[in-house]
Amino acid sequence: MQKQQLTVVVRVRPLNTAEKAKRAFQCVFPLDKKRVLLVDPEKFENNILRQNRQHERKFEFDATFGAVSNQEDVHETTTGPIIDSVVQGYNATVFAYGATGSGKTYTMIGTRDRPGLMTLMTKALYEKLDNQYQVLLSYMEIYNEIIRDLLNPTGGDLELLEDERGNIRVPGLSAVKAPNLSKIMQILQEGNLRRTQEETMANKTSSRSHALLQVMIVKNKALHSKLFMIDLAGSERASNTQNRGIRLKEGAAINRSLLALGNVINSLASKTTKYVNYRDSKLTRLLKDSLGGTAKTCMIAHVTPSSTNFEETYNTLMYASRAMNI
Ligand code: ADP
Ligand code: MG
Repeated sequence: MQKQQLTVVVRVRPLNTAEKAKRAFQCVFPLDKKRVLLVDPEKFENNILRQNRQHERKFEFDATFGAVSNQEDVHETTTGPIIDSVVQGYNATVFAYGATGSGKTYTMIGTRDRPGLMTLMTKALYEKLDNQYQVLLSYMEIYNEIIRDLLNPTGGDLELLEDERGNIRVPGLSAVKAPNLSKIMQILQEGNLRRTQEETMANKTSSRSHALLQVMIVKNKALHSKLFMIDLAGSERASNTQNRGIRLKEGAAINRSLLALGNVINSLASKTTKYVNYRDSKLTRLLKDSLGGTAKTCMIAHVTPSSTNFEETYNTLMYASRAMNI
């Protein structure tokens, strides 16, 4: 895969009031347009930072966004160019990766006042397509390797099929027209309420499902291109949540999807690997024709700046830099 096919960016959200109340402090610092500095908070607290530069670590990505960056900034730099290639007929996938609470849903869905990438990208697409094209939206979740329609809660579990030409289909998945932005936001917000969310010890509500917005561009009744925008499940490890039973099983399934995704991205980015294994999870099977090949892929890794989340932040930046550096 050529470098320009895969972009990896990082977004650091602002420190929030709950973190400030816990006397958390900032341990992630965007340095410039591309680099972030991560400081191990233990060393920070001992105030031996100056003597121990090895406790700082710099990471470089295609772009980084800090607390001053807004949704439009992220879109213009990161996902705007992807829209051009979707208009030209190429498939594309955009992921929001990161631990629960790091800002994935904010980036992808946002709020009515600050709409996220799912809305901004669809809007950009509408503006570039003339009336010979038709745009259809589907919104689904993958939870414990089961696919459900977020637009049709009574639809049951859905199958994933691949035809002899390698086209991936989910029979029975609803596909709707969304003529304007407020309708798109409504679809996303209603769909999101149907996502499987359950309490864990580590987080009040933790998103254990992957939510996928699939945008299909149709021309003359044939599929012209396909764009996936994905709010991934929290990347925190099951071991951190001190959960038992069902939670642990879920954690394992989620990690399997994220691991499979990481493996696919790493082999796509690799100059030496020829074979890409999509078969290990529902997520990667579903994305087979939209990830790799001529498709454009963008990973937006999310971290909090808070010293209390240092370990997750470190893990996320390492995951993202593995996709960068191969
Ligand atoms: P996740 O989906 O990764 O679990 P959320 O998107 O729900 O995390 O974000 C957690 C909280 O932080 C939410 O209250 C959200 O509004 C806020 N937040 C996240 N990113 C930003 C940002 N860039 N600017 C302002 N607030 C943010
Ligand atoms: Mg979320």
